[in-house]
Amino acid sequence: MKTCRYLHQGIARYGRVEETNGALWITGSAPIPEEDLAAQVAALRGVAQPDVEPIPLDTAELLPPVTPGKILCVGRNYRDHAKELGNEVPAEPLIFFKPISSLLAPGATVRMPRISERIDFEGELVLVISRRASHLKPDTNWRSYVRGYTIANDVTARDLQKKDGQWTRAKGFDTFCPVGPILSDEVDPEKGLTVETRVNGELRQHGSTADFIFSIPQLLAYITAAITLEPGDLLLTGTPAGVAPLAPGDRVEVSVTDLGTLANSFAAETV
Ligand code: MG
Repeated sequence: MKTCRYLHQGIARYGRVEETNGALWITGSAPIPEEDLAAQVAALRGVAQPDVEPIPLDTAELLPPVTPGKILCVGRNYRDHAKELGNEVPAEPLIFFKPISSLLAPGATVRMPRISERIDFEGELVLVISRRASHLKPDTNWRSYVRGYTIANDVTARDLQKKDGQWTRAKGFDTFCPVGPILSDEVDPEKGLTVETRVNGELRQHGSTADFIFSIPQLLAYITAAITLEPGDLLLTGTPAGVAPLAPGDRVEVSVTDLGTLANSFAAETV
């Protein structure tokens, strides 16, 4: 099922998303406790009679499709991206956090901080956790811990990433984690989903999730050996080659097979 989260008369609701005549529509919705993703899916499946008028997805005021407690990210999970920044291909997964305060809705504007001189896009597939996951083994049925998939832009202040020696500030500015537009369990990253990023309409990244250095079960085993994952937590799975600096006014679109397009504009910070 495909779902989204959006504002309906000023209140956040979860929406069921379905394709009609080649376009995506919100065909049912329900106010659901943020923390209960299983209830969310069951409730939306059960919405037989739409309780709101169906609306085209692209006219809805979308929010990030879940409200995560944690945003975990993998660095350098594609060989060609590790190489383009002059880094070794890692022997073990390289894991970092982005703060919840960096979350941004689809269509919202990324603020470019004055204190950075190079702000890059990183288009990525995102995995959304469905239930508590701790000490998973590489041979665990990992799919039973995954609610579905969405898209993120892991916006990065590249100069500060180099300068600081660790990545909290470079990856963590407010607005540096756009996520959406939908959440879907109808795709399979192991079969190879195409990840593409366009800047002002021009193709800049083109990769496939079939080229991950570390597979999803390897990543989940590595992470949950240290950190318990909870429903709604996000895992950004790394970016393919092609990252580059942005300028104020740029519009970045990240597309993943059958997950739609996450579009955000960039603007200079005014504070
Ligand atoms: Mg990244």
